[in-house]
Amino acid sequence: MAPSGPGSVRRRCRRVLYWIPVVFITLLLGWSYYAYAIQLCIVSMEDIGEQVVCLIAYHLLFAMFVWSYWKTIFTLPMNPSKEFHLSYAEKELLEREPRGEAHQEVLRRAAKDLPIYTRTMSGAIRYCDRCQLIKPDRCHHCSVCDKCILKMDHHCPWVNNCVGFSNYKFFLLFLAYSLLYCLFIAATDLQYFIKFWTNGLPDTQAKFHIMFLFFAAAMFSVSLSSLFGYHCWLVSKNKSTLEAFRSPVFRHGTDKNGFSLGFSKNMRQVFGDEEKYWLLPIFSSLGDGCSFPTCLVNQDPEQPSTPAGLNSTSKNPENHQFPAKPLRESQSHLLTDSQSWTEGSTNLGKDKAGMSNPALTMENET
Ligand SMILES: [Zn+2]
Ligand SMILES: [Zn+2]
Repeated sequence: MAPSGPGSVRRRCRRVLYWIPVVFITLLLGWSYYAYAIQLCIVSMEDIGEQVVCLIAYHLLFAMFVWSYWKTIFTLPMNPSKEFHLSYAEKELLEREPRGEAHQEVLRRAAKDLPIYTRTMSGAIRYCDRCQLIKPDRCHHCSVCDKCILKMDHHCPWVNNCVGFSNYKFFLLFLAYSLLYCLFIAATDLQYFIKFWTNGLPDTQAKFHIMFLFFAAAMFSVSLSSLFGYHCWLVSKNKSTLEAFRSPVFRHGTDKNGFSLGFSKNMRQVFGDEEKYWLLPIFSSLGDGCSFPTCLVNQDPEQPSTPAGLNSTSKNPENHQFPAKPLRESQSHLLTDSQSWTEGSTNLGKDKAGMSNPALTMENET
């Protein structure tokens, strides 16, 4: 039976409220369409050539913006696969054991065949009490979605969804196309905006749409360009927003650039190998979201055949308790295969939304 009561009513109300930012953007977009296509292009432009060029370019940007926004909102975040969940026996054992070393020993045994290379700040296996699973590298529990999200970047209230492995590329394209959309409107509206102040426009309704359109486009261009610039930097360094806040901890210690493989490979990890998909909101990121190649592969004592070069000063006895799947295996799998994730392949749960500060939506690890 569906739970009812004040708690569930509150939850449902919250879920409805979470859609307010999305409704706001949609209404704003609808108004901008009316103001630009109708009031500016059709009513105010006199040159037919300018009208046609502006309308075609505008509709192209509008379509790409809406498409990438839609995909960012409605692509379900990916959760860890079954191997990362504890078995019934392991869960029972964990409940019986007191917290501390015995607890860790159970988790270490459960994680021995999993491709995990990151740890908590204190060097423990990363475990989610709420989902009862061993967290894959770069996976975090989102307190808004109440789920572990693969390669979680942040929970974004403007799309009422978690931005992570499954939709990070869509999110980047959404930022890029919305920025282009605003810049295009501001650039083509500028001369009419100037006419507004020099009384070159007839006193019609169009006049005010033209003025507000320019203000809105210019304002959003400024905020979007800084956000887009920041995410471009994150992609080039192969960091998520959460990792920029708190560097990942590996077995040998903290390394803020641990997942960086160089500019080109970092870009390919998000956009994929096939150039024709780079600018389209179609999933083409590399990998499975559960394991990621690291630049620390040569420091791993489990990789004896790697050429000497990078030092291995930070040997940790714990390394030997974790004979994981060779890292290079996952690396080659990620960087050479163009294997892609298909939307219906996992049982995901998407709902809710919330705060914009990523640090607030990620649970603490010690
Ligand atoms: Zn979780
Ligand atoms: Zn979330």
